[in-house]
Amino acid sequence: MKILVVNSGSSSIKYCLFDMADESLLAKGLVERIGIRGSLLNHYPAGRDPFKKEISIPDHRKGIELVIDALLNNEYGVIKDITEITAVGHRVVHGGEKYSGSVLITEDVMKTLNKFIELAPLHNPPNILGIKVCQELLPDTPQIGVFDTAFHQTIPEHAFLYGLPYTYYEKYRIRRYGFHGTSHKYVAQRAAEVLGKDIKKLKIITCHLGNGSSITAVKEGKSIDTSLGFGTISGLIMGTRCGDIDPAIIPYLMEKESLNFEEMNNILYRKSGFMGLSEGISSDMRDLEEQALAGNQRAQRTLNVLFYGLKKYIGAYTAAMNGLDVLVFTAGIGENAPQLRKTVCQDLSFFGINIDNTKNDGLRGKEAVISTPDSRVAVLVIPTYEELMIARDTAEICNNS
Ligand code: ADP
Repeated sequence: MKILVVNSGSSSIKYCLFDMADESLLAKGLVERIGIRGSLLNHYPAGRDPFKKEISIPDHRKGIELVIDALLNNEYGVIKDITEITAVGHRVVHGGEKYSGSVLITEDVMKTLNKFIELAPLHNPPNILGIKVCQELLPDTPQIGVFDTAFHQTIPEHAFLYGLPYTYYEKYRIRRYGFHGTSHKYVAQRAAEVLGKDIKKLKIITCHLGNGSSITAVKEGKSIDTSLGFGTISGLIMGTRCGDIDPAIIPYLMEKESLNFEEMNNILYRKSGFMGLSEGISSDMRDLEEQALAGNQRAQRTLNVLFYGLKKYIGAYTAAMNGLDVLVFTAGIGENAPQLRKTVCQDLSFFGINIDNTKNDGLRGKEAVISTPDSRVAVLVIPTYEELMIARDTAEICNNS
């Protein structure tokens, strides 16, 4: 069974084709700059030379057509016929309260997804567009939706409700949804597998630290709390997003700086976090690390705020689960920043966390257990693989229908 995974963004389409017999990756690629000058396709067939094509890509339909052409190409393609693709799995950011798992996309599902646009106005529209285009170009192939929010639908009411008038939850479904669910689920499962333990008996904290970051408490295989909430802004400081702030700041700043709603939103989502705290050094962790090493205080204070936030969340979620067995670091920063892992873990010995610096130092982008054998909590670095998780869910739905 071959599964195509599509992650359709506003100006890009990422794709992977898996052979589910052994979960091997046959090809992956990226369509970039859709609708912008300089659009291109980068196609990477496994074990062969990559293929790059610069071509006008005015819309998503043209983008998906190019992906299909690349997969079928005589020279750099990986399949002979389009019918070899059993199903397409789509990453969809918001599944609201309706979807606690992946689903076969039907007309009804499409209607519901359209309703969720107001919950994820930046992400859901291009996700939906990707599904529509695939339905048009591959009309006989089942399309499956895999939601970033689904894994967090197990979060109990006391953790998903905010202290606002309850009527806003009833009227607008304002609550904690959480994101990066596919990644948290994958790394939690993989950590249990690596440790040879039953996930149902584990208390795990997964730290997905990338441009966007979230921490999740996974108890007995289920998400019970996560740091992102209604929008994609709460929790830790991120590349350009502010993380947790006192809501009182918002009207205060709006008044002081005469900001309208859009300007305020722009500050919270695009001008804060690493970028804002460092006064413009960068939204990229690599730059901050480099500058901090060179003695730049603005970079160092930004990292200090991030490290402290991480420690607070790990402490809070350990309390929420009444214990901790496994701590996992993943995504761009989690996988590639040994100093962050070291700094955060060395102050958590109270919880029984001890990492082996020889295993941690220099470890980038590779799966490893980095705790000492006597550490009460196992600490792991697990490269995230959301695409494989989407392919697995897609295959499972096809097998069961
Ligand atoms: P996204 O949320 O866009 O998927 P990623 O998971 O790719 O983001 O993470 C991007 C972040 O990972 C950036 O802050 C980047 O600096 C950081 N990162 C990537 N490689 C490294 C590295 N070698 N060292 C430190 N940070 C890294």
